Amino acid sequence: MLGKNLDEELIDGVVVAKRVKGLLAKLVVAKSNEEILRAAGNRWSVLPYTTKLRETLQSESINRVTIVGLPCQTQFLQQMKMFPLLETDFVTKIYLIVSLFCIGTFATEPFIEFLKLRYGLDPERVTYIGLEKNSIRIEYDHEQKLVPLREVLPYVQTGCLVCPDYTGVFSDISAGLSENYPGHTVLIARNEKAMKLINEAHEKGYLEIVKAGSDVVDEVETKARGKIVRAMRYMSMIL
Ligand code: SF4
Repeated sequence: MLGKNLDEELIDGVVVAKRVKGLLAKLVVAKSNEEILRAAGNRWSVLPYTTKLRETLQSESINRVTIVGLPCQTQFLQQMKMFPLLETDFVTKIYLIVSLFCIGTFATEPFIEFLKLRYGLDPERVTYIGLEKNSIRIEYDHEQKLVPLREVLPYVQTGCLVCPDYTGVFSDISAGLSENYPGHTVLIARNEKAMKLINEAHEKGYLEIVKAGSDVVDEVETKARGKIVRAMRYMSMIL
């Protein structure tokens, strides 16, 4: 779908976080289908998002972009689009906002120290990190480790504990994984433009799509509700 946007010159690029080494990532503008595919995958590091984004969008070679971000980032961007401030007019260049599903990010330094001390992992050799039921699967050097979620929860950013948004309700399109359909991406089109883009991408062969079954809807709703409950619980502790 993003490839279609680029090929048909609807946009000049896709702003996305790309893994550079191990757990470290940086914000890049992907200007070809290959660059988008190279940036695919999970990243769990915290990026100086807003500053980088502003710098990127102020470039004169960029006129229209799609942004891929986390729910908190997409909320910020959508609000800036709806209620723009003069000094932040860079948001007018944003054509489409795609949000990834998110349960939280880790405080990078303590999380890396934990992986080193508890599991002897060199974070620079990590090639994949992702959620798998009640564990985090970490791949490195052709090996993999399943780290129980309860062990890493203390390293989740405090702000994430009070964040109620799992899917990115302020985005145009939400995208994430379903436990029962590995290798597929669950897409939620949140408006007519998003639905039209997805259908056109499908018709032109950029995407294969099937309507999600009730099991997928139940899974996403359960996780979304779970995150709201977690946020309310932690919020009540600080009120
Ligand atoms: S849990 Fe919320 S605040 Fe934390 S990274 Fe995800 S969207 Fe952002």
